Amino acid sequence: MTLSPELASLRDQAMAVTCWSWSTFRGWKLSNGVDRCGPCPKCGGKDRFAIHTQKNTFNCRKCGLSGSGVIDLVMKTEDVPFVDACEIITGRKASEPLDPERARQLDEQRRRDEQRRQSDAERYRLKAIGDAVTLWNRSVEPGPAGSGGVLDYLALRGLKPSRWLREIPVLDYVTEVMVDGRKTWPVIHSGPAMIAGVVQPDMQMQAVHVTWIDLGQAKGKVALHHPTRMDEKTGAFEPLPSRKVFGHKKGGSIRLFTPSAGLRRIVMGEGIETTWTMAVHNFEPGTAYWAGVDVPNMAGKAFRDIENKRHRDRPDLDDLECFLPPDWCEELVYLCDEAETLPEIIRGLARAVTLRDQARDANPALPLLAASYVEPIGDGKDMNELVRVQAGD
Ligand SMILES: [Zn+2]
Repeated sequence: MTLSPELASLRDQAMAVTCWSWSTFRGWKLSNGVDRCGPCPKCGGKDRFAIHTQKNTFNCRKCGLSGSGVIDLVMKTEDVPFVDACEIITGRKASEPLDPERARQLDEQRRRDEQRRQSDAERYRLKAIGDAVTLWNRSVEPGPAGSGGVLDYLALRGLKPSRWLREIPVLDYVTEVMVDGRKTWPVIHSGPAMIAGVVQPDMQMQAVHVTWIDLGQAKGKVALHHPTRMDEKTGAFEPLPSRKVFGHKKGGSIRLFTPSAGLRRIVMGEGIETTWTMAVHNFEPGTAYWAGVDVPNMAGKAFRDIENKRHRDRPDLDDLECFLPPDWCEELVYLCDEAETLPEIIRGLARAVTLRDQARDANPALPLLAASYVEPIGDGKDMNELVRVQAGD
């Protein structure tokens, strides 16, 4: 559908407002920082809702209220359709003509806001990349087997070393804890960690993927809980992830194995263990085994229509930031761990194939790209568990 010029100008005027300024306007009590958290406008609580000021996104851990941009925010918090949301934000009716001088001022304001947002985002990105490089520089070759580090972890998972998997023998795990409405970052665990380098297509490292190891656990990863946040369903403290990514991961991958000759295929799963399992137990020549870090990076953004409605099954072909296979790749195979993410996995493959077709229009020498996926094996199991069961572990 196309919008009338009046409606398009109303939408643009609404979009000049950020989620953050809308939250201030509505008097929501959120903390300081880049990721500003506080009670959810839908379901309450203390600190379950957050607005990311640089991404201009919002998310509630509890009720699933999440999205991006102020129109989306207002549609979801006020339960109104698109046009009403634009009218609420701008305080102007869609049928009213816009005064040209006012339109010029709003344009100017939007341009300045966008510039500031971009320069903030760039500063934040460079800082995050710097932190990731510092962690990589601190990491060392894994210690000998039996030292309780990466080699023992990989052995427990039936896997081999890779030069992209290093270790930090003692690394602090910090998490955000709110104390009297202020953010604090206490260390809640210290221990050995596997450090995986996430490299960009030009081989620059801009992120690291960290897994904290605890060989006493069935899967060899630490089991941590948030010190104060309760899971209201179970009445227990909320579990925390055993892994984190630092830096700028978009577009990158963990290149666990890349053959030196005859490259034609990439096999990619979200996680290191799943992808590496395929290489170690089902190796095929000419195949690179790269982990995609997370599903959003493999899938690329979803297409948003003119009303800002997100279509989960359609790729946004303007998103060139997320992972794309290099030109030599003739076959892209995605490993899907969980049935819920299958639509994203398929969207990512469709995106890669379509963008390759477009590139071939300009450069017919590029190979065609074939795409396929491996379905989840079910029972909540991943490929690695299946192999370990077969091996009688
Ligand atoms: Zn909520």
